[in-house]
Amino acid sequence: MYRLMKYVSYLKNNSASFAYAFLIFIIFASIFELLVSAEYEKAEARVTVEATDYANALKTKVDRELNALLFVSNGLSSYLTVYHQHLDSNKLSAILADLYVRTKHVRNLGVAVGYKLTYVYPVKSNEKSIGIDYRDITQQWPQVKQAVDSREGVLAGPLDLVQGGRGLIYRYPIFVDGQYWGLLSTVINTDSFFKAAFHNLTDDEFDFAIRVKGSSTVFYGNPSLFQNPKALISVSDLPNVQWEWAVLQKAEKTPELILITRLMSIAISLLLATLAYFFLSERKTLTSQAMQDSLTGLANRRLLDFRMAQTFAQSKRFNRLMAIMYIDIDHFKKLNDSYGHDVGDELLKIIAKKLNHCIRDVDILSRVGGDEFVIVLDELNHIDDANLIADKIMASFEKNITVMNKTIKVSVSIGIAGYQKNSEETLNSLMKKADIALYEAKASGRNIYKIYPESRKI
Ligand code: GH3
Ligand code: MG
Repeated sequence: MYRLMKYVSYLKNNSASFAYAFLIFIIFASIFELLVSAEYEKAEARVTVEATDYANALKTKVDRELNALLFVSNGLSSYLTVYHQHLDSNKLSAILADLYVRTKHVRNLGVAVGYKLTYVYPVKSNEKSIGIDYRDITQQWPQVKQAVDSREGVLAGPLDLVQGGRGLIYRYPIFVDGQYWGLLSTVINTDSFFKAAFHNLTDDEFDFAIRVKGSSTVFYGNPSLFQNPKALISVSDLPNVQWEWAVLQKAEKTPELILITRLMSIAISLLLATLAYFFLSERKTLTSQAMQDSLTGLANRRLLDFRMAQTFAQSKRFNRLMAIMYIDIDHFKKLNDSYGHDVGDELLKIIAKKLNHCIRDVDILSRVGGDEFVIVLDELNHIDDANLIADKIMASFEKNITVMNKTIKVSVSIGIAGYQKNSEETLNSLMKKADIALYEAKASGRNIYKIYPESRKI
């Protein structure tokens, strides 16, 4: 309990230092937090830029790989437009075979006359599909219809193929004299296509996934990437379809770094605040030590001089009455010799308290030497008020003082000098007068107070 009280009083005494230290902590912690947040945002922006670059590289590669395949349809379309009336099955097969050999990733090439798949290369393992009517295949018909309606090529898939497996299908409609004639289909092997497209583009830092925009089925990569709010989502345009890409940084290094930086900045702010606290409280102690008498805790000579000068200047300015009181313990040397220095010290402390009880809040009490005290009496109505206080002090010494089991008779002598209104008095002359009055008191047998003669006229 005692310890707790001591701790509370310690905090009370140093509350200003504590408040400043807390303020310093808040300021530094806020500055560090701002810096850390700015750095975090920068890192995030950098990751977004890198992810965008990576997504663009992937899309470009897919475009390039796809364009190499799609040009096949353009050439074949020209041939069919010119020769549709004299189509020779053998010639067409030879052309399809040549195109098949020259393009990579093509599983098969097909020509539908009207909506019926009539020519397919290679025929082997695709026999099942020859003769089918697109209008009968519910899974494929919408894209065929879209190609015919839009008169443009449509990339569909990856789809489950009639001939087994999965593939991307590019459908290109042929119009002769503005009339729909038939359809070219290029079935692309998705596995080898993506392998070739993304060759050399696998990144240690990023993961990616692809789906057709508007569909929830992810056909390449890890589907969960689309659910991750940190993933960068972008879109690429392909013939009559859009693909949606999700790119995500594999291992986020930033949060750990940010956490460590945050902890470090809190530690530094705490350290700075602690240093500030010790610096301020130490400065306060040093300042009060410089102004305080270490034995009694009263104001010392330095503080007295400062406050006495203030009081004197104000009394002069506002024409107020003030007095200075010099108090000296009688035969203190003897008391020291008889009871020891320790008892003397305790006596000095008790006497300081006694004097403190006799004065008002506006007065200043200080210990200026061994057994010498000075009181500055401010805002007096009359010099008799100084007499009253002196009487009170003398009365307080009537009783013996018990200290360290010793009962001791102590008396003091007092010299008083009052500041006369509108006089030419200086502080020095007033102090001198109080000293003279004290000398008189000592000379007239001690245990008495004397007022400097002029003062009595006030
Ligand atoms: P007088 O009645 O003429 O004042 O006699 P005195 O013996 O009190 O003489 P004086 O005031 O000149 O001496 C003051 C003495 O106070 C001298 C010294 O022994 C003692 N003293 C000074 N400082 C301290 C202190 O810090 N502690 C103690 N215990 N004694 C002190
Ligand atoms: Mg003395």
